[in-house]
Amino acid sequence: MARLNTFPLSFKVRGQRIVIIGGGEEALNKVRLVTKTSAHVLVIARHVEADFSGFAVDIVERGFMPADLDGVALVFVAEEGADAERAKAEARARNIPLNVVDVPAECDFYTPSIVDRAPLTVAISSEGDAPVLARLVRARIEAMLPPGFGKMASLAGGLRKQVEKLIQTGPARRRFYEALVTSPQVEAAVAASPIAGRYQAEVLLEQHQAQSASAGIVWLIGAGPGSEDLLTLRAQRLLQEADVIVHDQLVPDAVVQMGRRDAEQISVGKAKGHHSFSQAQINTLIVRLAREGKKVARLKSGDPMVFGRAGEEIAALRKAGLAYAIVPGVSAAMAAAADTATPVTLRKVSSGFIMATAHGADDSDLTHWAALAQAGLTLALYMGKSIASDVAGRLVANGASPSTPVGIVVNAGRADKSTYAGTLGALAAGQVAFSDGPAIILVGEAVAAGDWAQAADFATQQFKVA
Ligand code: SAH
Repeated sequence: MARLNTFPLSFKVRGQRIVIIGGGEEALNKVRLVTKTSAHVLVIARHVEADFSGFAVDIVERGFMPADLDGVALVFVAEEGADAERAKAEARARNIPLNVVDVPAECDFYTPSIVDRAPLTVAISSEGDAPVLARLVRARIEAMLPPGFGKMASLAGGLRKQVEKLIQTGPARRRFYEALVTSPQVEAAVAASPIAGRYQAEVLLEQHQAQSASAGIVWLIGAGPGSEDLLTLRAQRLLQEADVIVHDQLVPDAVVQMGRRDAEQISVGKAKGHHSFSQAQINTLIVRLAREGKKVARLKSGDPMVFGRAGEEIAALRKAGLAYAIVPGVSAAMAAAADTATPVTLRKVSSGFIMATAHGADDSDLTHWAALAQAGLTLALYMGKSIASDVAGRLVANGASPSTPVGIVVNAGRADKSTYAGTLGALAAGQVAFSDGPAIILVGEAVAAGDWAQAADFATQQFKVA
């Protein structure tokens, strides 16, 4: 087995001095690093070239003098030349740990890449061999740990006595701390202020005490329109924590696979022609799983609060007294707007944006169609692909101009998207042969401001005559 040639340590620098020799970019890089600490940082250089403003450092513009190292904890040499050589010799004579930038052979220590969530620190080291790799690992860890995570550590520390008093068993306490450090509410509160964080943590503590010690939680998570990289970091983190992932048919497998490898996966898909769970069965299922003490990721396409039946699931969880949290996602309409560079609000053209269903509201629902047709705002219509021409006809019948621009995006936010464009009148005149996949219908004058150059034109499409 390969052994480490360096040993990672956390070096105490509070109240100590750190000296950096050099005034260029290399020195600035080290300043960036060491000013994350509370040490007193001194930069010594004959010529200061980099911009050190914005960093709490003392700058001395002159050559190096041996007395500069009196009482110093660490020395970085970030330039070449006579001053550098004298500083190195002096540091060695005094046994002060020395780092010579880009010269591993002369270094007593290397600086790791740091993920700073003070007081929590993650240091990544490649023994100086592969800084690029270390930086890559660092970026991944950055994404895993939310910005307020360190403050969370202080918060947890401050609550210890209270938790011991209120929660009796070890496993139940562990569950509380897990819930604490992963709670989006506490995270948001901590970011705002320590007092707000403390308050939210106490709310959580009360809930934990009140609930049966083994109760789980349900996260209603928006998966976005279907590409893995349109998942939020929070969604990704919670998917990694979930014991069970309950997902809809519309959530692609690649996104479900971002969950923990050993998590149970349950598809409650509503694909046409397949056996699917009724909404009541889904409600019962997530309540049962959470009661068993499981952490349930209820993964929905797009945003969970938009045509996602979230209301019913939340009501069931509330009624059962179970903990839940909602994680927003990129809704299909926003993905469609992005794909086609369509500003859904546009100065002097469209002062607002409506997300509406095209389905389940038939001719008899006159107020629905009249409101949409006469809104004068941009519309994003969900669940309307198979009845697209009927929808266009209804809008025109209720007062929308046949010349109103319409754009349709199938598989928005995905690599295999396809787009169609034309007017309400053209769409109403027949049925377009769309490619497979879910679709968003955008309607309104602002649609014309988008980039629909790749779109198939309704007028030149194969129409199935209605
Ligand atoms: N909660 C989802 C909507 C679910 S309802 C969201 O916020 O996006 C299902 C409808 O969403 C589909 O009929 C279709 O109109 C739309 N939809 C979902 N994913 C889509 C995608 N990738 N591209 C276009 N439309 C999509």
